[in-house]
Amino acid sequence: MAKILLGKPVAQAVMEEVSLRTEALACRGVTPRLAVVRFGENDGDVAYERGIFKTLSPVGIEVESIVLAQNAPMEELLKLLHTLSRDRTFHGILPMRPFPDQIDTTLARNAIPPEKDVDGVCDASLTGLFTGVSTGFAPCTAQACVALLEHEDIPIEGRHAVVIGRSLVVGKPVGMLLLQKNATVTYAHSRTRDLIDVAKSADILIAAAGKRGLIGAEHVKPGQTVLDVGIHYDENGKLCGDVRFDEAEPVVSAITPARGGVGAVTSAILAKHVLLAAENSLYF
Ligand code: NAP
Repeated sequence: MAKILLGKPVAQAVMEEVSLRTEALACRGVTPRLAVVRFGENDGDVAYERGIFKTLSPVGIEVESIVLAQNAPMEELLKLLHTLSRDRTFHGILPMRPFPDQIDTTLARNAIPPEKDVDGVCDASLTGLFTGVSTGFAPCTAQACVALLEHEDIPIEGRHAVVIGRSLVVGKPVGMLLLQKNATVTYAHSRTRDLIDVAKSADILIAAAGKRGLIGAEHVKPGQTVLDVGIHYDENGKLCGDVRFDEAEPVVSAITPARGGVGAVTSAILAKHVLLAAENSLYF
């Protein structure tokens, strides 16, 4: 039987610290403020935004939702991002992704300055991850994976971490963060041969392929820690992940559930990044 790695205690610990530091900032007249930018009324984006309000508001972080029409042109987004970048009352900017088709993703990502890039989307933030020199912030989900491992005292240094997925949102950044912590990192992706053998060779297996139930009993072995980043819904509307939990859980040492695992930590990390951005703003 594996240890079930729940996100809630990790999120609670992060939020306690955020709450204390937000109070300290309030004494200096600063209220951390986040702008969430989304296009239209996509169910997933609306649910994520609701979660952000629920997590950040009680600790004194103001959240403003800015909704553009689903077909809003690139110029409108750029104008908005430039305005938010210059507005000193906003400390963080979070664009919901993926952007709609009419948006030039690279241009949009890079219209967010690294000091307000609380979800690590711009190239300067990603360069910081690559060089290890702190510029901007890491993507929240990637940071959430590492926070979960550290909270549970799961050793990273010298361990073999296999990351399934190489997106800029999750896969690549989580691998870079683990490398910074001295893991030996292997990336697997859609062209990887022998995914079963690669996955089985991991001490820490991060499933971030966005493929429901990709990882099953055949991919895991005793002693492993498995973090499931995937978010999917089955035919009955039940949340499930990239990992077939019922198959993997009896084999491995520790595993996150699809509900209440990594996802439960992500908004807390976002809160921490907004707080840090607000603290940093005192020195600029
Ligand atoms: P993405 O952009 O679609 O990237 C998926 C990655 O997985 C790609 O690198 C792809 O390889 C790889 N892949 C796809 N099929 C594969 C296969 N059969 N075998 C091995 N690798 C495969 O997805 P993403 O944005 O990174 O998100 C991944 C998952 O995380 C999604 O389910 C998403 O909903 C979830 N997510 C969760 C959170 C959270 O807070 N928990 C946050 C963000 C995203 P190629 O590069 O070769 O195409």
